[in-house]
Amino acid sequence: MNIKKIKTEYVKKIKTLNNYNKNYYDKSKPLVDDQKYDKLKKEIIQLETKYEFLKSEDSPSGKVGFKPSKNFKKILHKIPMLSLANAFKEDDLLNFEKKITNYLSIKNDFKIFYSAEPKIDGISASITYKNGKFYKGLSRGDGKEGEDITLNLKTIKDIPKDISHKNFPEEIDIRGEVFIQNSDFKYLNEKFANPRNAASGSLRQKNPEETKKIPLKFIAYTFGYEKGLTVKNQSDFLKKLNEWGFKTNPLNILTSGIKNLIKNYQEIEKKRADIDFDIDGIVYKVNDFAMQKRLGNVANAPRWAIAHKFSSNKAVSQIIDIEIQVGRTGALTPVAKIKPINIGGVIVSNATLHNEDEINRKDIRIGDTAVIERAGDVIPHIISVDLKKRLKNSKKFLFPDNCPSCGSKTIKEFNKITKKVDAVRRCSSEGYYCDKISIEKLKHFVSKEAFNVDGFGKKIVESFWKLKLIKFPQDIFKLDYSKIEKLDGWGKLSVQNLKYSIDQKKNISLEKLIYSLGIRHIGLENAKLLSKHFLSFSKFKNLSKQSYYEDLLNIDGIGETQVNSIKSFFSNEANLKVLNELEKVLVVKNVIQNSKDGLLKNKTFLVTGKLNGISRAEVKSLIEENSGKTVSSVSKKLNYLIIGEKPTKKKIDNANQLKINVIDQAEFLKMLNKTS
Ligand code: NAD
Repeated sequence: MNIKKIKTEYVKKIKTLNNYNKNYYDKSKPLVDDQKYDKLKKEIIQLETKYEFLKSEDSPSGKVGFKPSKNFKKILHKIPMLSLANAFKEDDLLNFEKKITNYLSIKNDFKIFYSAEPKIDGISASITYKNGKFYKGLSRGDGKEGEDITLNLKTIKDIPKDISHKNFPEEIDIRGEVFIQNSDFKYLNEKFANPRNAASGSLRQKNPEETKKIPLKFIAYTFGYEKGLTVKNQSDFLKKLNEWGFKTNPLNILTSGIKNLIKNYQEIEKKRADIDFDIDGIVYKVNDFAMQKRLGNVANAPRWAIAHKFSSNKAVSQIIDIEIQVGRTGALTPVAKIKPINIGGVIVSNATLHNEDEINRKDIRIGDTAVIERAGDVIPHIISVDLKKRLKNSKKFLFPDNCPSCGSKTIKEFNKITKKVDAVRRCSSEGYYCDKISIEKLKHFVSKEAFNVDGFGKKIVESFWKLKLIKFPQDIFKLDYSKIEKLDGWGKLSVQNLKYSIDQKKNISLEKLIYSLGIRHIGLENAKLLSKHFLSFSKFKNLSKQSYYEDLLNIDGIGETQVNSIKSFFSNEANLKVLNELEKVLVVKNVIQNSKDGLLKNKTFLVTGKLNGISRAEVKSLIEENSGKTVSSVSKKLNYLIIGEKPTKKKIDNANQLKINVIDQAEFLKMLNKTS
């Protein structure tokens, strides 16, 4: 890659990251999850390490947070509010300690004590007290300058307003985390992805009266500027904070040795789902203040502290229940309902268990403590369960023999081709007899690749179903709009729009219609093949009467599996009724058949070079629609060579030799009575 390209790529990445920062820190509405954010940040730093010339002022490696918002007065922090370096594995911690011993030039066997404090996932604030009085409160901002959020912070009950203890310093910035408890977050009707964003959004509102309505909490853990502080280490400071009336984290401990840090980390990680506030790791701080002072800071973080982060794609939580969902094709999918847990900024409360075999193989049970993974946009799933933490009265999960929706027997099919029993258990009822299958069928019917009805999403299908407005696809075209207009969330205009989108889709191609029916094993490609075979809706619909199912095997691409599925679709009365009713409300376009006596009958063509505004594939179908044929080389069998831009000279020469007609695009179109 050349330098210019590298620079462009770097600048583009920084721009994207800044945009993520703005939305996360300033607007409290992140655009991406933490995994994606961290990946981009890592890529930028890797580029900087590889290409020295890239390092710029905009580098995220030296930055903290985001510049203060214009909504607040900016105020300089007397002592900057920094971020923290991150550790993910044991090696990172060993390195952290080694750097400290090297920097301080102390012996390796010197026991460094650390204050290990669960890292609360909220937003930090700094409150200045002068002579025991709450004087000013700032947000972190970009670390150097914070936002003046004094009035908002004053609404938080956990923050003392007056401190009259004798040993309270004359002046001090008490710093800590503002957060929302998970139990309170549940009741917030504002749309925040997680408690951290909710805390940030609520605290940094223009109107403190609005902040007052939110049950924000505050836990103190450090200080900035101070005058008159007599404490010599972090653990004593935490005790003092309690004496002065601040809340501190009850899970803070004082310990030494990397092994003990890891033990504590693992214990807390398992407890995470039971703690009523989100934590995203454990912060280790060298306990001794004199050592902290000697160690000082790097660009955006202290040398004497590190955040041992929890994975941003895995977490431990408890399975509260196992629910069985029924899909469009009757497949039963088990879903674990788990105690909500924040995985990389996303609150996860459901995890797929895939199928019955997966549950049996991993022996997953209700009440189990499990490791859940959420990677990228993939649905979260259970990796394993902790047998040591299994409840005494736990019972093996038995997959239901009957469909939880309609009560029909559930079955596992035998796959004749693989000679194996299917891993998926299904509801044996076909289609519309099972409510859950019907709802899913309707969702499929209106979906993007099917009827694509604008504004008719999954939620609307569910709500119309509940109101008994729809049960079968044909009902969509006979909606009682006057009833819908009176529903909550609907009005004249939205109903008009919905009616317009539905009416527009009454004209549909046979191919789309076949796909929309949601016949098992008939996807877009197969629907196309079937439509070409049947040509008209009436022929397709009459298939049940003729019972020539075996004929379908002659269609290239349609196999026994598809034919069996079509057979079973047509043997179902409800499906036949749907087809009859749809015929009454829809105009299904017939497939245009290639004419046998077209203008190009008995004529062969070959194209060389690029044609103007028409693709090779389009030319081919145009020729075929008009009864002509295309060939692949110049031979006596060829009648016309069509030349476009930059043709192959050899082909023209050969054609001339064989006295074949060489024509251009305009001449070709003229043969079809067309102009370009
Ligand atoms: P950080 O949150 O990783 O660590 C620093 C913060 O830890 C401090 O400011 C403080 O608020 C907090 N903290 C909690 N308990 C503490 C304790 N006991 N002692 C000291 N500090 C404590 O750093 P950061 O720079 O604010 O943010 C980086 C994180 O934010 C990353 O995890 C990143 O993924 C995420 N982020 C995500 C997005 C996104 O778009 N998803 C955007 C920006 C940042």
